[in-house]
Amino acid sequence: MPPVSPAREILRRLHDVMASSTSAQAKLNAVVAVVAEQLDSEVASIYLLRDGVLELFATRGLSQAAVHVTRLAMGEGLTGVIAETREPLNLAEARAHPDFAYKPETGEEIFHSFAGVPIVRREASVGVLCVQHADPREYAEIEIEVLQTVAMVLAELIAGAGLIDDVAAAKARSAASGPARLPGLKLVDGLGRGTAVFHQPRVVIEHTVADDVEVERARVYGAFVKMREQIDGMMGQVEFLGGGDTSDVLETYKMFAYDEGWSRRINEAIDSGLTAEAAIDRVQQRTRARMRSIADPYLRERLTDLDDLSNRLIRIVSGQLGSAAQSGLRGDTILLARNLGPAELLEYDRRVLKGVVLEEGSLTAHVTIVARAMGIPVVGRVRDLRTTITDGDELLVDGSAGTVLVRPSAEMLKSFATTSALKAKRQAEYARLRDLPAVTKDGTRVALMMNAGLRDDAAALDATNADGIGLFRTEFQFLVSATLPRRERQTALYKAVLDAAGDRPVVFRTVDIGGDKAVPYMRDDAHEDENPAMGWRALRLALGRSGLMKVQARALLEAGAGRTLNIMFPMVSEPWEFDAAKALVEAQREWLTKSGRPLPAKVRYGAMLEVPALAECLDVLLPKVDFVSIGTNDLTQFLFAADRANPKLADRYDWLSPAILRFLRRVAAACAAANVPVTVCGEMGGRPLEALALMAIGIERLSITPAAIGPVKAMIRSVDLAPVRAAMAGWLEVGAPTIRADLTALADNLGVARG
Ligand code: PEP
Ligand code: MG
Repeated sequence: MPPVSPAREILRRLHDVMASSTSAQAKLNAVVAVVAEQLDSEVASIYLLRDGVLELFATRGLSQAAVHVTRLAMGEGLTGVIAETREPLNLAEARAHPDFAYKPETGEEIFHSFAGVPIVRREASVGVLCVQHADPREYAEIEIEVLQTVAMVLAELIAGAGLIDDVAAAKARSAASGPARLPGLKLVDGLGRGTAVFHQPRVVIEHTVADDVEVERARVYGAFVKMREQIDGMMGQVEFLGGGDTSDVLETYKMFAYDEGWSRRINEAIDSGLTAEAAIDRVQQRTRARMRSIADPYLRERLTDLDDLSNRLIRIVSGQLGSAAQSGLRGDTILLARNLGPAELLEYDRRVLKGVVLEEGSLTAHVTIVARAMGIPVVGRVRDLRTTITDGDELLVDGSAGTVLVRPSAEMLKSFATTSALKAKRQAEYARLRDLPAVTKDGTRVALMMNAGLRDDAAALDATNADGIGLFRTEFQFLVSATLPRRERQTALYKAVLDAAGDRPVVFRTVDIGGDKAVPYMRDDAHEDENPAMGWRALRLALGRSGLMKVQARALLEAGAGRTLNIMFPMVSEPWEFDAAKALVEAQREWLTKSGRPLPAKVRYGAMLEVPALAECLDVLLPKVDFVSIGTNDLTQFLFAADRANPKLADRYDWLSPAILRFLRRVAAACAAANVPVTVCGEMGGRPLEALALMAIGIERLSITPAAIGPVKAMIRSVDLAPVRAAMAGWLEVGAPTIRADLTALADNLGVARG
């Protein structure tokens, strides 16, 4: 055994091997020679995965006649087991192991001890490095570590030489890990099947052996400083938001970020001659190995946080900060992330994006709304994504059940196919309702409109036969764009939507950016909002940056030439804000009139009611507006003071609470008295039971996600509203936290279709 730092001496020699201009085979031969000598082993061998089978590529100590002849399947023999499990083996007596497979051509019968480690690339085994010895002895822990370090270098060497079949390796790994079922929170309905892709991909380490240890030390030092700054910055923001899950995670992050032991271990790995990336990864691999052996769920979770932080550190040090969207998706994909912003989601190609799985997430977060608009199923609050799923795994997402199936078995696939068929059948039933009116059994006609935001959404108007677009979220165009969209592009989009809608009305909501819909080019670096949902967003931002609003007003007026144009302002908190916004649009209209440009035949102005204060001023507001639209997503978060994006509060307050329903009833009555049409355009209206409750308190116009039109129309057509209205009046007198159970029971009694 070499006395001190065997890793350092080996890496010094491997550095020379890697730098030499010999063939890949000659390099592999040199590596086994170095390993055998440095570890004082009689045998050192490298097996690599070729055509799905492990093949002996180089050996020192076994018969040379066996090279490129001895082959083992995944899981066959000790080598196959190491590749399959991605775990090292360290045995004093190899033969005593139940998986030992004797290969006569190697002449290995004289050796007793055996130690081997997997060669891993992109989290898949691509080969095995092993050593053998005539004496029966277990290798020391430090020797196994040395082997693991050499395996990292080998992964680089064989990838550089094109000796790795990445696809076959990923398949083999996937087959080895077995199926799993992960529970989560239902966020967007639907089924999706595809390959797992992490939004923030793991960095693939291209260089493992350092040219200059001091340079690598400085790089790691710099990355630690930057990472600590980032964590401190995030902590500062979260403290103002009052903690919650995020704050717990960040507390642990902070503890690890400043943990001396962690940075010391990385520095030791650098001392041995690894690059900064490889050193962090080496220490991370050890953490993962520990993670696998810990049963305590709390400790496991903490180690997952450390794993997350290691990823962050590697990404900083390697400068690879982009998301998977930048490298493009290949084939049907299920996207995985801790959390996503709506703009981040919109960067992906919706044609191949078949599902999204989040560790956080909530029902009315904008990313959920965008996914719903894109028709992509989402499951949230799924734990341990990184430890259970690897890039390339096959996944089935069931947004209706809130489950994710990982590497599904034949049986899981079969039952998934059955669920898909049932869903398709139900869709066909909804399609049959397409041309029938949304009218209750006792004759109340409900206007069923759809929410939209992307150009392609307009196609859903025909598919669903909706009564129009009740909410067109114009900010989606701003979110998908790297820079502020030019006026011509805005006009073109609005015109295309109006053309597609024909005679049906379209309500354009002016930009609602800020909050969780941040756009990079509008960020105010000098003043980060500490509570963005209540900050400088929507109409507040638009009135503050009136240039933006003027451009949008011009674009809308030009697109609406010759037709009725419906404009609605988001987050109106006091009536004067509506006046100011309307005046801004009117000034543009006057300018266009003066310059003789074609104008809309009529402009109708509406206010979104999503800030409770506005409800206190309806007597002032209603005479000024042509219509009102209630945004229940924001309204409920402000009414309950419960952040709509906070997963911990996701199920705390029910949409069917008397607080909300009484509030909405009051608004509906005031609008009816003033003869102003009122619509609900939040996510609440897209759920059959909630929609029924809204109808029972006097809301007769709903604007909902296109996929909800079928189920909500089926509900409407199956209900007698009068008894529900009567029961509702009684329930709202009582102060129960929710009327859900009562309403469900009544709906079932009346035979109402609840989706
Ligand atoms: C709402 O707040 O209910 C709404 C419809 O607007 P958004 O979800 O875009 O904030
Ligand atoms: Mg809103």
